[in-house]
Amino acid sequence: MSNITVCARFRPLSSRERRDYGDSICIQRIDDETFSLKDEKEGDFKFTFDRVFYETSEQVDVYTFLARPIVRDAMKGINGTIITYGQTGAGKTYSMEGVNILDCDEQKKGLLSRVIDGFFEDISSSGESIKYTIKLSMVEIYMGKVRDLFDLSKDNIQIKESKSEGILLYGVTKIPLLDPAEALQKLSHGLDNRAVGETQMNMGSSRSHSLYIFTIQQEMNKDIRGKYGKLILVDLAGSEKLEKTGAEGRAFEEAKTINKSLSALGNVVCALTCGPTGRGNHIPYRDSKLTRILQDALGGNSRTALLCCCSPSPSNAAETLSTLRFGARAK
Ligand code: ADP
Ligand code: MG
Repeated sequence: MSNITVCARFRPLSSRERRDYGDSICIQRIDDETFSLKDEKEGDFKFTFDRVFYETSEQVDVYTFLARPIVRDAMKGINGTIITYGQTGAGKTYSMEGVNILDCDEQKKGLLSRVIDGFFEDISSSGESIKYTIKLSMVEIYMGKVRDLFDLSKDNIQIKESKSEGILLYGVTKIPLLDPAEALQKLSHGLDNRAVGETQMNMGSSRSHSLYIFTIQQEMNKDIRGKYGKLILVDLAGSEKLEKTGAEGRAFEEAKTINKSLSALGNVVCALTCGPTGRGNHIPYRDSKLTRILQDALGGNSRTALLCCCSPSPSNAAETLSTLRFGARAK
């Protein structure tokens, strides 16, 4: 029995894919959990996940299946992580943020704004006996450095561990969230900062990992310390192979760092689900900053959801296959 939910999501064909390759797609639906994929070189494969979201699926379907239960648990003090994985252009950010975090119709809202709604729904249905304080930190991991998206001057945040909070980012800005609308304003501010920082550093957003860290503190009364939960949403850097990008110089260094952290994540998730291996019970959290930050929100009694985002186009079949293999390894 594993605490990791693995789903695949196929976005609709892009207009460019349609123009260049017509309407054909490389996958065939079998049911809500299973599909087959055809790759020209490698042949046919069948994959089964906890749920498959096909082209016509809605943002709300993804939220309800994959995120809602984790939000509910985070309110009870159980840590959680929700990760989007896949090649650049596969739909990771669309799934996380929607089209525009502030100006999104109800249908297009992404996981972030729905998760925030979920927190406040749970607060209002919990009654008066428990007071909750929800805070948000936003950081970006780029070339192995952790940067605070609410304060760009904090560009090399260190990871520490404490008794009460577990793994923490030392000195990171934590913004209290008072209501859903205000929370989205704050989030949007962090996203704007991300864009500014990326322009300054001449970096594309798909080259960094974005982490949205929600902490939920329950206040019982003066004498009893209430439960503390943490929910981390992770929009990973693009997982595409080096050759395809034809990277040189710094782009090559970026790609190497990304590959390293993504394989560290794969190894951690695999060690958690596969159980003891030749290396004993060792979970290699310390192999990357990404896995170190996620340490107490992955594994243990925490809950994890992995959304493998894919293009359905035959032109991307090789990358899609690699994304799905990453997901399959996590099961
Ligand atoms: P990534 O973050 O993985 O690089 P994006 O989320 O930016 O990819 O998606 C690439 C493009 O595809 C964007 O224009 C986005 O709006 C669109 N897109 C992605 N997923 C969907 C979807 N499920 N439905 C409609 N459009 C989508
Ligand atoms: Mg993106």
